[in-house]
Amino acid sequence: MRPTARTEVHDPDGTRYGIPTYQWRAAPDGLATRRQLRAAGLRPGGQEPAAQVMRLRRRGRAPLVGHLYAIERAKPVRPMTPGRWRAIEAALLARRTCPDCGRVADYCIPTSLGMCVPCAYPTVTAPSEGERL
Ligand SMILES: [Zn+2]
Repeated sequence: MRPTARTEVHDPDGTRYGIPTYQWRAAPDGLATRRQLRAAGLRPGGQEPAAQVMRLRRRGRAPLVGHLYAIERAKPVRPMTPGRWRAIEAALLARRTCPDCGRVADYCIPTSLGMCVPCAYPTVTAPSEGERL
């Protein structure tokens, strides 16, 4: 049966289509298309579509259907390897390295400052190691 009215593509219980169906762009949170998962570095991971979005087209043309997958059941696109961990650690280290003085802070450099706190506020001197009692 071909849906003829806009409301007919709203079937959150799946009584008409077998799986929960929503209007295009009206899917609830927690669901994503394969393409959206991929953008987040995820893949469906073997799960069946949990729902679908449907957009009607002009008369006589089949509706556009996009399958939606549960994000919480998605898996990373690639398993973590030592190389990938190193890449992530390097990226995190870069975020903690001050571009001004080159010191590695124990926090991520705030993007609002663009440098470490001592560089951003040179008049506020933190106690150095020797001053600590
Ligand atoms: Zn600095």
